[in-house]
Amino acid sequence: MTYSTNPAEVPVAYLKGVGPKRSEVLAQVGIETVEDLLYYLPRRYLDRSHMVSIAQIQIGTTVTVVGKVVMQGLLRARKKFYEIIIQDETGHLPLLWFNGIRYVEKRYKRGMTLSASGSVSEFRGGARIIHPEVEVVFEDEEEAKIHTGRIVPIYPSSEFLRKNFMDSRGFRRIIKPALDQFGDNMQDLVPESVVNEAGLLLLPLAMKQIHYPENFDIRERARHSLAFRELFLFHLLVADRRARIAKKQKQHTIMKPDDEYRDWVKSLPFKLTGAQNRVITEILEDLFKPEPMLRLLQGDVGSGKTAVATAAMTLVAKSGYQAAMMAPTDLLAKQHFETISGLLKGTGITPALLTGATPAADRRLILRGLATGFVKVIVGTHALISDDVEYQHLAFAVVDEQHRFGVAQREALLEKGKAPDLLVMTATPIPRTLALTAYGDLDVSIIDEMPVGRMPVKTALRTEPDRHKIYAFIRDEVKKGNQAFIIYPLVEESLKVQLKAATKSYEDLKQDIFPDLEIGLIHGQMKKDERDRTMTRFANHEIGVLVSTTVVEVGIDIPDATVILVEHAERFGLSQLHQLRGRVGRSDKKSYCILMTDMEPASESYQRLERFVQSNDGFKIAELDLELRGPGELLGVRQSGMPEFRVANIATDLSLILTTREYAHKLMSNALAMSDQERLKLNTYIKQWRQKESSGGVS
Ligand code: ADP
Ligand code: MG
Repeated sequence: MTYSTNPAEVPVAYLKGVGPKRSEVLAQVGIETVEDLLYYLPRRYLDRSHMVSIAQIQIGTTVTVVGKVVMQGLLRARKKFYEIIIQDETGHLPLLWFNGIRYVEKRYKRGMTLSASGSVSEFRGGARIIHPEVEVVFEDEEEAKIHTGRIVPIYPSSEFLRKNFMDSRGFRRIIKPALDQFGDNMQDLVPESVVNEAGLLLLPLAMKQIHYPENFDIRERARHSLAFRELFLFHLLVADRRARIAKKQKQHTIMKPDDEYRDWVKSLPFKLTGAQNRVITEILEDLFKPEPMLRLLQGDVGSGKTAVATAAMTLVAKSGYQAAMMAPTDLLAKQHFETISGLLKGTGITPALLTGATPAADRRLILRGLATGFVKVIVGTHALISDDVEYQHLAFAVVDEQHRFGVAQREALLEKGKAPDLLVMTATPIPRTLALTAYGDLDVSIIDEMPVGRMPVKTALRTEPDRHKIYAFIRDEVKKGNQAFIIYPLVEESLKVQLKAATKSYEDLKQDIFPDLEIGLIHGQMKKDERDRTMTRFANHEIGVLVSTTVVEVGIDIPDATVILVEHAERFGLSQLHQLRGRVGRSDKKSYCILMTDMEPASESYQRLERFVQSNDGFKIAELDLELRGPGELLGVRQSGMPEFRVANIATDLSLILTTREYAHKLMSNALAMSDQERLKLNTYIKQWRQKESSGGVS
């Protein structure tokens, strides 16, 4: 029997010093193979040449110093404290602990080399760091000798990992031998031609240099080489998925815009914005191509995406085919239906609405209309993809607020048609890097211009003392005939507690604050019927103030809503806040978004909110959100095909994302050579991915 030496196939338990218990711990953080372990990359490095020496330390600054423990012990001033003195070539520095003494006493021993970070203060007549952040650099002098003059990796850890002896040093102790034993056997899936043309370091070398760099220039090249490979392979997977869809030839031909169509555009109740016109052209060009369109339409709330989709649907219907628009909720579907009906007036095209609430008799009629092709434009919810819904020839599918649907539902709608064109719409502005990765298989159109006459929503950050003024303001607005939202956050873990808070606030508002106003409440635990009923009453202006948890419908259009008050604003992501802000300001009335928080002005959360207050640009806000909270938070749900990159950084690697995409396309179009063996390896990799994807492993 032969054992594999490929680190991708060797379980991490095989390594010396790992064993079953530790491998279980590692599995918890996604490390199962030796390769996984090698991709556990340093968070930063200790480099003596970049450190402050103890003699240089100044009181009042924040520093990181490295030194050997020469003395330690329990002392007493007014209070008991523990002191460790470290030493480097230039001097001594005491580190002090008043709390957690037991741990410190047990963990840090004489002869160890420690890295200590913190602010330097004066204590008993000298420079000290009180409660420093400490990492063990070397466990003893023996180890210190081995690493002298080297740049030493510091690995990320966590409470959980530290408890199981996997602190930075714990990782170093298993990663170093793993590198030595298996580093040279890493299999590079990226063909040699690409490696050469892009000037990448060979994989084993890159891997070694990212853990133990000779200098920081080569460490940058190593990171670049690894991130390149990761993104390149990702683009190949995306290209493969796209190629499979593009292979399906369309079975419909859409007519070019004629005078009738142009007259219709002229007859719209508004003039399309420049951005709307540009995006319509992009979509129509795709509609005329032989392979199906796969396009993402992004535009801030209120930018007029529905009108854009309607323009395309008009041509599809006039060409004799069917178009369907799927929205995530009954209410949104109904609103789209009404908007579209309005826009299509006079064209002879009569849209239909199909939701879970459609009465059985109507439903039968609509299903027949869809099967015979009598109904050309249909708007609805998931009801559009029910098993018994048949289309005569669905040629154009629109999915609104894509992030509320799974990719499976998108696929199900496509399945109903004959290689239909697909338009996915979203009001969540997605930074370019994320669009290229999370939606890499889609072309992107962006509406970056608002209809004229819209006034930017005035945003303010307020705290508890302002509350009564705010209530008075809301009352004034409602008395003027406007409407208001009051939003409470709802976080999964404490659903019950917070639900109680929202319900209680609602009762208080109703009885004590606004006894003279009509108030409604909606939340996620409510029955859908009840929620829809309240939402409809709000839409019909029978309710003045709507108290709600974040279930408040995305994309819903309440033109008279001029105030949105968001409680505990710090608990929301910035993009989410931007979505909420988009609930108001949907007419030419002046609108207000008020964020309430009880955070300290000096706190990070407060400052994050302040940055939000200053910007009305959804894309900027999304970029900020991506930087601060990562892609998962931004999109709300995890997207299919959205990988978790181990090396690349989605927030900052835009140019690398673009370059690697070009390389992937070059390889696919045979502009770069590939040996049979390389092709075989890559195909196997792609096939494995396809399997994972279709078995729902990626979702
Ligand atoms: P989105 O779906 O992008 O949030 P909608 O398509 O719902 O936006 O449009 C929001 C509102 O703006 C609708 O009432 C719509 O009729 C109106 N609208 C769309 N395009 C224009 C335009 N070019 N000028 C003025 N109003 C517009
Ligand atoms: Mg919309």
